[in-house]
Amino acid sequence: MTESLEPMPTDWQRALVIVAHPDDVEFAACAAVASWTDAGHEVSYLLASRGEAGIDGVPPEEAGPLREREQRESAALVGVHDVRFLDHRDGVIESGTALRRDLARGIREVRPDLVITFNHYDRWGFGGWNSPDHRAVGRAALDAVGDAGNRWIFPELVTEAGLHPWKGVRRIAVAGSPHPTHAVDVGPTLDRAVGSLAAHANYLAALTEQAPEDMARDFLHRTTAEAGASFGTEHAVAFELV
Ligand SMILES: [Zn+2]
Repeated sequence: MTESLEPMPTDWQRALVIVAHPDDVEFAACAAVASWTDAGHEVSYLLASRGEAGIDGVPPEEAGPLREREQRESAALVGVHDVRFLDHRDGVIESGTALRRDLARGIREVRPDLVITFNHYDRWGFGGWNSPDHRAVGRAALDAVGDAGNRWIFPELVTEAGLHPWKGVRRIAVAGSPHPTHAVDVGPTLDRAVGSLAAHANYLAALTEQAPEDMARDFLHRTTAEAGASFGTEHAVAFELV
């Protein structure tokens, strides 16, 4: 494979990662997050749901708080201590103005210069069909960056919440995109990323027969080696920069 991916820019201070579910950041990008927080960047997470529909044997009212706890532990392992949850319903998150307003609110609160989202395309790079929640939240996040900067789209954010427009987002990076353009070398942080994904222990236990740590190691080593092959490093996390 040719080395086709460019290095991700590092001239930014604060990033907001917007995803649908607990575990989305961990499957796609947490090794890159660890390398950013190591380098002194500030990273916050904003999740549209608590992933309460994610565990077959556990009813949503128990799974929601459980997965929220796992997400906070998982984030702390890669240096992220600001984790925010919205209450959109897992599995049936609707892409629309309510979601855009909530995400624009989060962007105005955090005031990031970089927004990270998750694959919003119909398919994954390997061809499989993407989840409706990922498509909805990814697309709404892309839209919400513009909404966050416009005083007149959600005027109630100013009048009711005192949140003035934030036009400071200079870049959006899509993790898990089937059309990556940039990458981060994650060799030094891969072990911590494995721990961060494995922290979703209850979720992973329901997903696979493998021990969470083994599943996390296998998955992240394989996917980061694939991206690394296009970036000229052993392990990398790829993004599509918008
Ligand atoms: Zn997900």
